[in-house]
Amino acid sequence: MKIKTDLCVGCGNCVIICPTQAISLIDKKAHINDELCVECAVCQRNSLCPVNAIKPTRLKWPRVIRSPFSNVIAPHKVTGIPGRGTEEMKTNDLTNRYGKGEVGVSIEIGRPGVGTHLYNIELFTERLSKIGVSYEKESPVTALLEEDQIHIKDDIKNEKVLSAIIEFKVSLEKLPHVLDVIKEVDPIIDTVFSVGLVSRFENEEIPIKELVERHGFQLRPNAKINMGLGIL
Ligand code: SF4
Ligand code: SF4
Repeated sequence: MKIKTDLCVGCGNCVIICPTQAISLIDKKAHINDELCVECAVCQRNSLCPVNAIKPTRLKWPRVIRSPFSNVIAPHKVTGIPGRGTEEMKTNDLTNRYGKGEVGVSIEIGRPGVGTHLYNIELFTERLSKIGVSYEKESPVTALLEEDQIHIKDDIKNEKVLSAIIEFKVSLEKLPHVLDVIKEVDPIIDTVFSVGLVSRFENEEIPIKELVERHGFQLRPNAKINMGLGIL
């Protein structure tokens, strides 16, 4: 994103709306800090500029990777849909992605207002590789991994995005090791992250509840039921 400073009248509208505080006014003209800008297009899409001074630019590799992980309407090449993770995480009653004895895990690194560099993904994948987890093929983050399923491609490691979601599944027996990884990464990561667990609801109980709480985590249960689609 670029600002045509010759047009800018210094109203400050774009400064307020930018989720990464990448825009600042210098001598009553808006300027974008390219390192902080995640190419989310919020400043331009909301038509808040009274003089139309905010212009999208043609992004080159590797910067172009910022957009699908930050712009909610930019479709990702892997999923073909906008968004930083796959829909199926939330619709297991339809897709049956996570079977009996399996747990789905999502680790969302970064948030609007904070963001993350892509190198943070490796903090998790390096440790998860020792456990043996199965990454979701359709997930945008899986496409960023090298063949070893550990490292992020070198040329994009330092790119900044709003957030990136690691998606995988593990057997119930391996879940404690995943929880240990989360505890290990927590004090060394330079941004925020949140963890989602998907498990089946069996015998009126959430099978992983006790195990997760024993590891010192507090659960906030959520359920999603897709009404009327049961014939699929
Ligand atoms: S594209 Fe997004 S991150 Fe970049 S300056 Fe505009 S609002 Fe800020
Ligand atoms: S919204 Fe437009 S006129 Fe206002 S500060 Fe930003 S670029 Fe300048």
